[in-house]
Amino acid sequence: MHTIAHHLTDPILTAYAAGTLPEAFNLVVATHLSLCDECRSQLAAHEAVGGAVLEDAGEAVMSDDALDACFARIASSPDALIRVGHNHHAKRKGGLFPEPLRDYVGGDLDAVNWRPAGLGVRQAILSTSKNASVRLLYIPAGAEVPDHGHNGTEMTLVLKGAFRDEFARFGAGDIEICDPNVEHTPVAEPGEDCICLAATDAPLKFSGLLPKIAQPFLRI
Ligand code: ZN
Ligand code: ZN
Repeated sequence: MHTIAHHLTDPILTAYAAGTLPEAFNLVVATHLSLCDECRSQLAAHEAVGGAVLEDAGEAVMSDDALDACFARIASSPDALIRVGHNHHAKRKGGLFPEPLRDYVGGDLDAVNWRPAGLGVRQAILSTSKNASVRLLYIPAGAEVPDHGHNGTEMTLVLKGAFRDEFARFGAGDIEICDPNVEHTPVAEPGEDCICLAATDAPLKFSGLLPKIAQPFLRI
C-alpha cells in the first residue's frame, strides 16, 4: 500500500461513530479504515470523546466544511454499521479486497459480477439499504469514467491503481469526497487499471434535503 494522501474527514468519522451514515457510506468508510492506521486512531479518539464531539458539531458548520457537517447532521434510519477491528489489518494475503468489502462481495475480485458501464468501464452495484448506493468501478488504464454527473454526494475509495481529476491524484487507499454540485472528470492513470469503491446518496432523497439541513447553520 502506498502512503495514503487523502483521508476521511472529522465530521464523517463522527457520523460513522454515531452510526448515522447510510449503509453504502458505512461500507466505504469501513473499507478505508481497514487500510488506514491514521483514520483508525482518529476514530478511536472520536469514540473516546463520544457525545461531546456531536455537541460541538456546530463549530464545524461555521467553517468551510459545510458538506462534512451535513454528513454529521444527517440522521438516517438505523443502517448496518460495519465495524472494523482497531488493531488488525483485515486484508487477506494475496487478496485485493479488505474484509468489510469482501463480506459484501462474497469474495475477492474474481467474485465480482461486472457489468459494462460504457467506454470500457465496468461496474458492479452492491446491495445496501436504498437511501444511498455503492458500486465497484473498474476503469481501464487511461480511461475516463463516463457519464459522470452526480446530483448527490459522492465518496470514492481507490482500491487499486490511481485516477486523477481536476483536483488531485488519488492512489490506492485514498478517499475523494465530492460535493453534489462539483463536476469533475476522473481519468485512470496510464499503465495500470484502476478499481474503486464509490458511494453516492440517492439524489431524489437527498438533493433537496442537504440544502435544507445546511441552511440554518450556514445562515443563508
Ligand atoms: Zn485515512
Ligand atoms: Zn464524481
